[in-house]
Amino acid sequence: MYLNDDVTILKGIGPKKEAALNKIGIHTIKDFLYYFPKNYEDRREVRPIISLQEEETVLIRGKITAARTYTFGKKQTMKLIVGDNTGKIEVIFFHRAYLGKTFLKDRTYEFYGKVTSWANRLQIVQPDFNLWEEDNSPEILPVYPLTKEITQGNMRKWQKEVRVCIPELVDFIPTEIIYRNRLCSLQYAIENIHFPKEYQKIKEAKFRLIFDELFLLQIGLLYIKMRFNQIPNGISFSKNVTIENFITQLPFKLTGAQKRVINEIDKDMESNKVMNRLIQGDVGSGKTIVAASAIYKAVKSGYQAIMMAPTELLAQQHANGLREIFKPLGANVELLTGSLNLKKRHQVLANVKDGKTHLLVGTHAVIQSDVELNRLGLVITDEQHRFGVNQRELLSQKGENPDILVMTATPIPRTLAMILYGDLDLSIIDEMPPGRRAIITKVIEYNRRDSAYELVRKEVKEGHQAYIVAPLIEESAVLDVKSAINLYEELSKKFNNFNVKLLHGAMKQSEKDCIMKAFYMGTIDILVSTVIIEVGINVPNATIMLIENAERFGLATLHQLRGRIGRGKHQSYCILITEGKTELSKERVKILENSNDGFYIAEKDLELRGPGEFFGVRQHGIPELRIADLSKHIHILEMVRNEANNLLEKDPFLLQKKHQHLKKQIKKNFNNIDNISL
Ligand code: ADP
Ligand code: MG
Repeated sequence: MYLNDDVTILKGIGPKKEAALNKIGIHTIKDFLYYFPKNYEDRREVRPIISLQEEETVLIRGKITAARTYTFGKKQTMKLIVGDNTGKIEVIFFHRAYLGKTFLKDRTYEFYGKVTSWANRLQIVQPDFNLWEEDNSPEILPVYPLTKEITQGNMRKWQKEVRVCIPELVDFIPTEIIYRNRLCSLQYAIENIHFPKEYQKIKEAKFRLIFDELFLLQIGLLYIKMRFNQIPNGISFSKNVTIENFITQLPFKLTGAQKRVINEIDKDMESNKVMNRLIQGDVGSGKTIVAASAIYKAVKSGYQAIMMAPTELLAQQHANGLREIFKPLGANVELLTGSLNLKKRHQVLANVKDGKTHLLVGTHAVIQSDVELNRLGLVITDEQHRFGVNQRELLSQKGENPDILVMTATPIPRTLAMILYGDLDLSIIDEMPPGRRAIITKVIEYNRRDSAYELVRKEVKEGHQAYIVAPLIEESAVLDVKSAINLYEELSKKFNNFNVKLLHGAMKQSEKDCIMKAFYMGTIDILVSTVIIEVGINVPNATIMLIENAERFGLATLHQLRGRIGRGKHQSYCILITEGKTELSKERVKILENSNDGFYIAEKDLELRGPGEFFGVRQHGIPELRIADLSKHIHILEMVRNEANNLLEKDPFLLQKKHQHLKKQIKKNFNNIDNISL
């Protein structure tokens, strides 16, 4: 058996089990070794039966003194009385009367399970068990995450079989790094993560494996960035195009942060290096105008630009806004979304291809292969966290090494940004345009929501507008939450003297556009919606954001939603209605009451929910983390970052012989690194 052998080489793995294993990412023997336990059971201490207490999980060893089956519900249940020389306890197997044949009198068995009590008697229900033999050595047993088709017993047995391949594993971390950071060897780590003799060894093993995972991720991203920065033939946009000319004709003064970031971009664009920059700025910090200045630079230098946004609404709004800005400058802006009719689409594509269009704004539709440009110089993605590395790559392939700008309003804690966007240069807009009033945020319990609706009524009477957000489109039987449709029906009665309209993602595009336009123009007073209004939408006259079942949303999302208001000169209110039954969910939502700082909120969200939830779907094109946790292992991340930087400083292209295993491993992890042009 070898590391790269297929799992089917093991006995007992036929097509069904193979398929089940593949589903959890196990294809080869090596994959087994990298399939880690989620925790451990301590089976080293055998407990005297007399000492057992309710709620403990214990290992006991004894003989069967009585066994009987009885009918409990529809199926037969078996009850054993197990005794050692201190006492007796009941052991119950529901629906498993067939075990009757398994247990032999006069033999000793071990049972591992949780002690419960029933009618004042202690029991162990559905325990693990095995026949005890004199030479059984006590163990710490691994507990693996499983699927329906695979039992814990299966997994443990297979792991024992593939153990012989551990010596074949090749350590890809350079020796100096191993010494400097006091890491155990890779083989030791894999051995002890699966077959530990002591808890201390699990700790050493984990540390090493977490280090490996973060190191590969970090050095991989830095390596990509390094290669990228070496590409000399990026576009040098004209030094004669001065951004000042653009800035002075704007209707407002830029903030210091906007100016700083615009200068950083300008410098990147003038150099022959390919720009690859991330703009992070809280909602409302004014990212669009920063993007517009980059577009100005590109277009005035004779190039075309693309701006991609994650939703039709947002794309449309950008197209409208940018059209207005660029019309007096003689630049043509076109919008491309999936809902254009064929004729219009052909026309847009033709204009883009022959260069008549200077800026193409759109949704994912702009990635499609029939979108060809004449002279693409700049690619911008708005709300970057909604897109992945691959999409950026596909877009940039429409030109010859165009400059790239990505923008996000999801404030990402610095450590995370470090690793996730290790491939990007970072600019932060950390200052809000002047004259904004802080939004007042209030958390209100469901049974007191009438007071919230009163506030809505008052604001709308004064000529302002309100958003009311529900978590789902249709009522869900499973989750007891407000649906947008139900809520709409309820509220249009309640507010029957106002214009209330409904907006959700399943509506036809033309309908959505119509409604959004009407809200924008101020003819709709109250917009009941799902989260599709989350990103980017800008209606300064809206002063109320009321969110139903706020406990169902992530903090980052709530913060984004709140960012839809407070955009004009009037006082705005964000009301979070909660039906949260747990304290934690209430406490979580309260964080928004006390802070308007997106970065702080993001830190808290990360702390409370972990990075998986934080980012939603895996969409970054980065390898999955199995054992490392970006919110917990920050100190290891820092060690790793130092080492990765050091190493690449000495050997930027990983050409040295001692780095070949590492290079191979990076390529494997980022599977086609050579095609990635970030
Ligand atoms: P976001 O960063 O959330 O994308 P936007 O770019 O949509 O923010 O800007 C929000 C609003 O603030 C827009 O109406 C925009 O015109 C306005 N704005 C941007 N910068 C400034 C500024 N320096 N002074 C005043 N208003 C500004
Ligand atoms: Mg925006």
